[in-house]
Amino acid sequence: MCRATSDRHCEGVSTPPCSQEPQLFFAEHPAALNRARELCATCPLLAECLAGALERQEPYGVWGGQILVQGQVVAEKRGRGRPRKDAA
Ligand code: SF4
Repeated sequence: MCRATSDRHCEGVSTPPCSQEPQLFFAEHPAALNRARELCATCPLLAECLAGALERQEPYGVWGGQILVQGQVVAEKRGRGRPRKDAA
């Protein structure tokens, strides 16, 4: 089942890659997120999935081959923990 089954674009695609290893798409570890992005690259829903996630302002996860944080595409997800102090 597609993670975005509420969207019409999932009709006809019964097993998108994210249905096989869904935990990867909300993982903390960068390697797992990169693996999820690789799986998205094979998905026929890639563009629609990303557009839908941006429209919904998904708070986190891999959608349409991109990492989203607070509804925005980010290059990499920062790990947990205290933020670095600025040098200035
Ligand atoms: S693009 Fe990625 S997250 Fe979206 S349906 Fe396909 S595999 Fe799942």
